[in-house]
Amino acid sequence: MLQHVTDPELCIRCSACELACPLKAIQCICGRYCIDPNICNECKKCVEECPTGAADCYIEIAVLHTVDEQAQWETLPAASDKSTPHQATL
Ligand code: SF4
Ligand code: SF4
Repeated sequence: MLQHVTDPELCIRCSACELACPLKAIQCICGRYCIDPNICNECKKCVEECPTGAADCYIEIAVLHTVDEQAQWETLPAASDKSTPHQATL
């Protein structure tokens, strides 16, 4: 399955996604914009507002990554971690 996350390497920490999210599913933790998979309804408003494409990011996962896990990422999880990062085309 896919999980919607933000790409740490493309993110410029502008907060546009956090402000755009109507459900407040995006939290800034230690400068990382993390999407709570239990709140996000995939409305894509954050994707529309993100100036760099960092919010237009979906990774293949076996188990959902929590916001606390996402906060630790300096890059997207490697494919060897059973995740396959890719940019989605909407
Ligand atoms: S897709 Fe919608 S609900 Fe999910 S994080 Fe983005 S703005 Fe929030
Ligand atoms: S809108 Fe995009 S660049 Fe700005 S904080 Fe969110 S993910 Fe990062």
